[in-house]
Amino acid sequence: MDTTAKIYEDLDRILVTREEIRQAVEKLGRQITEDYQGKDLVMVCILKGASLFFTDLIREVDLPLSTEFMAVSSYGSGTSSTGVVRILKDLDRNIENRHVLIVEDIVDSGKTLYYLMQVLSQRHPASISIAALLDKPARRVVDLTTRYSCFNIPDAFVVGYGLDYDEKYRNLPDIGVLHPRIYQADDA
Ligand code: 5GP
Repeated sequence: MDTTAKIYEDLDRILVTREEIRQAVEKLGRQITEDYQGKDLVMVCILKGASLFFTDLIREVDLPLSTEFMAVSSYGSGTSSTGVVRILKDLDRNIENRHVLIVEDIVDSGKTLYYLMQVLSQRHPASISIAALLDKPARRVVDLTTRYSCFNIPDAFVVGYGLDYDEKYRNLPDIGVLHPRIYQADDA
């Protein structure tokens, strides 16, 4: 799909192109390969938003890692999360004494990951860190350290490359700012 596709008309602008994403994911994969040499690495995909990032990223990591999937819901609707998190799908395997890398699409207020870090830390992993594709530092309300993040972005609601609005737009190959008329129409 190229950027003249009809679906792109719902964007205000493209913020991160597919080529920028590809390069960042490749670079991050090399970094993870270096940092986790000789360690029992479990990469955890937070569904559904991180799914595209995750499947691209794990293919750039040259280690015999294992994969896990977790689904959480932040209570709340529309374009912001409340920080009240519910686990919809938990990990399948034990993470005790293993090195856990949580792969998330975006850190906004940080509340979702703060909660997840607390929950997973109680299971005694050897280490636990976060790799986020996008970060909105201006929106942070909790003290959260992300070991890796690919792009800092401004405070705008973005979709594409796994990120949705109302379950749509995950299939866009680039990341863009959703045109406000889309959610204003839904609010009306
Ligand atoms: P936090 O708990 O950090 O405020 O929110 C994290 C979650 O909110 C993300 O995993 C994502 O699901 C959602 N989110 C935050 N900002 C955006 C955004 O700009 N676009 C989309 N599609 N989701 C977002």
